[in-house]
Amino acid sequence: MSFWNSNVADNNLKRQRIFGVVAIAFSVTACSIAPGIHPRLQADPVTSQLHAVQIPNHPANSKVNSQLLPSAKVENLSFAVPDKFQGKTVYQVHPSSNEKLIALTIDDGPWPNTTSQMLDILKQNDVKATFFWVGQALQANPELAKRVVTEGHAIGNHTWHHWYRRMDEATAKSEIERTADLIYKTTGVKTSLFRPPGGFLNNGLAAYAKSQKNTVVMWSLTSADTDPHAKPQAFVNNVLKGAKPGAIVLMHDGGGDRQRTVQALPQIITGLKQQGYRFVTIPELLKIAP
Ligand SMILES: [Zn+2]
Repeated sequence: MSFWNSNVADNNLKRQRIFGVVAIAFSVTACSIAPGIHPRLQADPVTSQLHAVQIPNHPANSKVNSQLLPSAKVENLSFAVPDKFQGKTVYQVHPSSNEKLIALTIDDGPWPNTTSQMLDILKQNDVKATFFWVGQALQANPELAKRVVTEGHAIGNHTWHHWYRRMDEATAKSEIERTADLIYKTTGVKTSLFRPPGGFLNNGLAAYAKSQKNTVVMWSLTSADTDPHAKPQAFVNNVLKGAKPGAIVLMHDGGGDRQRTVQALPQIITGLKQQGYRFVTIPELLKIAP
């Protein structure tokens, strides 16, 4: 187990201090607030910046839905994690013998177009990933969610609204439990994996999640795919240069236009395979961890 370096911890502290002045508005859902939208928000050291994006009432929804698999609810599909990780925060693991395992995590969906495109790529490459869903996005795209589960990917909880602000316990509970309930009702999945929006660990969400024995799943390597100015090749380079055994990789299928992530994903998978990596879901990674 290894945790954030002090630089990131410092940045987290700085971020905590600005909570009081940050009002994430109405339909804000995404991991990030575009630079300029809210000048008081600092760049997220992990995702490069913070954005605010609305869940779209996307005109292509019906088209996407028509392409989906029949809705197959998987009964009581559980992504259990070992006892030692329950109520804990994980950034990466250190596999025994330095086995080249890596876990792709994909946040902020389900999302029209990009989720299904990424599912296609994952399937073509026989790769399983872990998706952290925003409740609002799940409510808008239930058929996409069913497809994610049907195709064997693991699921985590990423709150209902994707708020960064400090929350009292009742609000934190609502953000997490409302999403957990909808994940279960939509897909049959019970998950104890939780990822706090923006990686914020001190706004009440992670504390509530841990109190319920959830595992707070952070990341050790970001594609930085929320950078609005970067080209897909930059996402590829970020991942391929930073890959280490046991790494947890952050990328996004929702929260904004993720076409560049879709474009980068085949090269990310191919490059990691060339480096000798085997792809595992977060529950698999935690089970393998010594
Ligand atoms: Zn997010």
